[in-house]
Amino acid sequence: MDVVTIFEKIIKKEIPAEIVFENHNVLAFKDISPQASTHVLFIHKEKSTNINEMIEKNPTQISDIFKAIKEFTELEGIDQHGFRVVTNCGARAGQSVFYTHFHLLSGESFGNFGRA
Ligand code: AMP
Repeated sequence: MDVVTIFEKIIKKEIPAEIVFENHNVLAFKDISPQASTHVLFIHKEKSTNINEMIEKNPTQISDIFKAIKEFTELEGIDQHGFRVVTNCGARAGQSVFYTHFHLLSGESFGNFGRA
């Protein structure tokens, strides 16, 4: 069964969200529970449930997303500060909304993954 997620309702403007960027393919809005001073979620308007399904179904969507992130971070000057992009794939990785999304995080100094 295809479950309708909260992000599809945001795309259809059925529920409110603080939209910060939109183009033909991509929508970006503020995370409701921010983990950094800038915490924005980027989604493609065409549905997939996670990154692997996105790549399987339509690999060009990943460049749509990252072009939007580039445009947004440059517009906001976030590119000067530095930022992190994260996607959780699967419940065990912390995915709670099963509509592919990319967390853009900025504003803090983040530690390095995989380094002592
Ligand atoms: P994940 O845990 O990677 O699936 O990320 C889902 C994210 O969606 C979490 O960071 C939530 O805080 C965020 N979230 C859930 N509902 C909403 C909403 N209505 N508007 C904005 N962000 C949301």
